[in-house]
Amino acid sequence: MIKEFFDIEHGSAHDEFQSWRAKHQRGLFLTLNTQTRAYLHGARCMHLGSGPPYFSAKDGLGSLTSKKKVCAPQPELVAWAKKRGVTVKLCEHCQRDGLLGNNDTESVATGHFSNYWIIKARPERNDFTRFPLRGKLGRWYTARPPKTWLAGDTLFIWAGSPKLRVIGWAHLVKPEAGFEDNAYYFGIEYDSNLIEGPTINDLRRDPLLRTASFLKSGPSGTVFPLTAGQGARMLQLLAPFGQGPPGFLSIPLKKAEQSEIRRRIGAGFGTAEDNRQIERAALSAATKHYKREGWQVQSVEADKCGFDLLCRKGRQECHIEVKGISGGGFGFILTYGEYQRAASDNKYELCVVQYALSNPTIQTVVGGRIFQTFQFVPLAFKAEARRG
Ligand SMILES: [Zn+2]
Repeated sequence: MIKEFFDIEHGSAHDEFQSWRAKHQRGLFLTLNTQTRAYLHGARCMHLGSGPPYFSAKDGLGSLTSKKKVCAPQPELVAWAKKRGVTVKLCEHCQRDGLLGNNDTESVATGHFSNYWIIKARPERNDFTRFPLRGKLGRWYTARPPKTWLAGDTLFIWAGSPKLRVIGWAHLVKPEAGFEDNAYYFGIEYDSNLIEGPTINDLRRDPLLRTASFLKSGPSGTVFPLTAGQGARMLQLLAPFGQGPPGFLSIPLKKAEQSEIRRRIGAGFGTAEDNRQIERAALSAATKHYKREGWQVQSVEADKCGFDLLCRKGRQECHIEVKGISGGGFGFILTYGEYQRAASDNKYELCVVQYALSNPTIQTVVGGRIFQTFQFVPLAFKAEARRG
């Protein structure tokens, strides 16, 4: 079980940490030097006094928990660090003193905890009519499975020559499924159908992805790591291709944060009252437009679900986000929730109403097309204090 001890969170953290050490002499802990860098130590680390009795807060020697300590059996610590993108190094003294076993060394020595991987398919050997198929399980082979990957990691499927492009994505289900015919195999579940994704030229033009190891011509192999930044960038690039890659919706804003942003920026760049008028006029123009096209239109604006109008025609369903603009421009503000909806909803349509107050003119952009039609410039960030 993971235990965290941190002065900022608990006044008695130091004493609780010392008592954890006393009780778990073979245990392991991380010291978080920053939010993304940690050192792994054994409970008996010489830097902290190797054996009990351990000093307590009232001894006046300071606190060991001014930087966060995360304590657990090793496998859980690895998963803990990996999930948060924390790079782990081993304490040299703990290694020398035999407090870190071989398992720990092997698991963390690379200091690399990727959540994102490229897996390379070979067009000459693989049959792309059988995969990728969303929801289907697959077995893949590799000579060298990474030691640090975990079930749930995101896998981007790259097709080698002559395709040389991303053809889908999946997630890891069984990291170490077995060994046969001189290769290890692992189990994945496809999260997309076959797509004509970004090509080698697209990726070589990308400042983040151009340095990824799988793009270099040298290495053969099946599995290649991506950094957290490269993984996130890949998710962005794949957003137009449908259902939304796993992980893309993993940072939901709280309702309160969404409405706060909405309150601050309104629906557009004007004053709040102007914006309300424009929004009302745009909604009414859009409703008329879709009704004229034979849709049953239901306003779901109040539900704050990331779009404004739910449209139905027979079995078809369409989710319309309406953006009103007073002039003839083609720019507007999307909240993070709306952006997420656009990236993940294959029934999504954007309806831009220009000249909303004078002569409403409708332009619609279907689903993932909005990522090709518009570029998105961040307007606001939430800043949080660094700790440790
Ligand atoms: Zn140590």
